[in-house]
Amino acid sequence: MLTQIINGKIYTPQGWLDEGSVLMRDNKILEVTNCDLALIGAKLIDAKGMYIVPGFVCMHAHGGGGRDFTECTEAAFRTAIKAHQKHGATSIFPTLSSSPFSDIRKAVDICEQLMAEKDSPVLGLHVEGPYLNAKMAGEQFAGKVKGVDKEEYTSLLESANCIKRWDASPELPGALDFARYLKSKGILAAVSHTEAEYDGIKEAFEAGFTHAAHFYNAMPGFHKRREYKYEGTVESVYLMDGMTIELIADGIHLPSTILRLAYKLKGVDNTCLVTDALAYAAADGVEIKDPNVIIEDGVCKMADRSSLAGSIATMDVLVRTMVKAGIPLGDAVRMVSETPARIMGVEESKGSLQKDKDADILILDRDLNIRAAWAMGNLVEGTNTLF
Ligand SMILES: [Zn+2]
Repeated sequence: MLTQIINGKIYTPQGWLDEGSVLMRDNKILEVTNCDLALIGAKLIDAKGMYIVPGFVCMHAHGGGGRDFTECTEAAFRTAIKAHQKHGATSIFPTLSSSPFSDIRKAVDICEQLMAEKDSPVLGLHVEGPYLNAKMAGEQFAGKVKGVDKEEYTSLLESANCIKRWDASPELPGALDFARYLKSKGILAAVSHTEAEYDGIKEAFEAGFTHAAHFYNAMPGFHKRREYKYEGTVESVYLMDGMTIELIADGIHLPSTILRLAYKLKGVDNTCLVTDALAYAAADGVEIKDPNVIIEDGVCKMADRSSLAGSIATMDVLVRTMVKAGIPLGDAVRMVSETPARIMGVEESKGSLQKDKDADILILDRDLNIRAAWAMGNLVEGTNTLF
C-alpha cells in the first residue's frame, strides 16, 4: 500500500522542508519530496501543519509500562516495548541492568525471538553490567556487580548474536580486554559507573570503549583530593575526540545548563538522548511495588530522597526537555534519531527520513506531543489522535 503524508514540516538530513510529502510503501520510505501534490492511488494523511520527523531510536531503557526487562519474560518485554513505542520509540534496544549470566542468557533468547518477528522494533539487546565498579554502582546495583570474567563473556558471546551494546567500568581488571573483544564482535562498548580519570579514559577509548553511558551520572567531574585538583571522568570524556555520549534528558537527571554544555562541546553528531527509563515509565496507574523507591517530580527517587533511583522518561519527553533548554528542535530530533542510529550501527535503515530507509515516521504537534507514529510502516496502536 502507498501512503502519502502531506501538509507538514518535514525534518530531513538537509534540514526542514516546509512543503512536500513523505511517501511510504509497505515498510519503506519510497520518497521524501518537495512536491505535495496528492498522488493518485495513495492513501493521503494530512499532517495539518505539524512536524513530520524520523522515528526515535531508543538505545538505553530498562523497562516501561510497569515491566522491567530484568523480569526476562516475553510478556515483560512486549509490555515495556509497547509503552515506549507509544512515545515515539520506533526502534529499541532493550537494556538489561546488572544481572547474573543465567538471566542474560534468558534475555538473549527472548530478544532473538522478538527480533525474528516481521517488522520487529527490537534491534538488539543492551547489557549494562554486571562488570561494574562497586563503589560507583550505587544502591540499585548493590550486590549485583562483579569482576570481569573472560571465560564467562566469551562463552556467552560465542553463541549469542543479539547483544549490540555492553556497558562496563573500564578501571576493572580485564575490562580493556573485554572492550577489545566486544569491538572485534562489532558490539558497542560503553563506559559506565566509573571513576576513571584522563589516562584511564584514554586507554579505555583506545581499547574500544567509544561511548559514555548516562554522561555525568555515576561518574565524577572535576574534584579535589587533599590540596590538589583532578579532572574527573566527565572532563576526560569531553577531551576524547570521537567518544560519543548519551544524556538522560528528562529535565531532572541533568540541569538544562549541563544539557546545553554537553550539546555545545560534543555536538549533535556525538550526543544522543536516552531515557534510561525504569519500569515506571509510561506506566499510568501502575502501583509502585518496591518500598525503597518513590515517584516524585517526574522521576524515581530512593524513598529517603538520598538520591535519584532512575528515570521515568519516554523519548518524546527528551525532545521537549532539550527544546525547553534552548536547543533547536531539528538538533533535538537528530539526537534521538540520526545520532543513536549511527552509534548503534543501524544508520543504513534507521534514523532519518530518506528514500529506502525503514518507514519509521512520527507526526508531532506544536507542543511536541506524538500525534501519529508509524513503525516499519505500521501505525503504532494508541498513537493516532490526528485522523
Ligand atoms: Zn541504565
